[in-house]
Amino acid sequence: MIPDIKILDEKDKLLHKVSKEVTFPLPEEDKKLIKDALEYLKLSQIEEVSEKYGLRPGMGLAFPQLGKLKRIFVICNELDKGKFENYVIINPKIISHSEEMIYVEEGEGCLSVNREVEGIVPRYARAKIEAYDEEGNLFTYRVREDLAIAFQHEIDHLNGILFVDKIDKKNPYKDANHYRAI
Ligand code: ZN
Repeated sequence: MIPDIKILDEKDKLLHKVSKEVTFPLPEEDKKLIKDALEYLKLSQIEEVSEKYGLRPGMGLAFPQLGKLKRIFVICNELDKGKFENYVIINPKIISHSEEMIYVEEGEGCLSVNREVEGIVPRYARAKIEAYDEEGNLFTYRVREDLAIAFQHEIDHLNGILFVDKIDKKNPYKDANHYRAI
């Protein structure tokens, strides 16, 4: 069964608002939403399932995309075919980051943006992030490359920013040579 979650579209005002810090313990309904969102992301990345149910593949979802202005996001990262690792990230802070910046060559995607968008979104190549898990334990994450991009993309959601907002519309490939494509 595909979890019954509703993902807001980019036109929704909620996606352009800043989310609030979370306090612990988390309400049960938030824990359920975390679980459902992770399951949805996993299934969306399994080709047979995504094709059968018409799901767009995605690796991350932030609570504002699910209609809640809370500083929570989840990432389901496929390591090998059929092997996934989950992240539940609450009240994240970027502690430090690389000078080097990268971007996704074929363009970033977002489950709230239902169109193809070309252009460069510069992101730190590496970042150190502090965040709580769903039980309120503090962790430090060192992320790089595509996982670093995913974390930064989701943190932007918590600040009401979509990746499309970061693309120069007149010149979507501006300063491409300043950044490394991945
Ligand atoms: Zn997104």
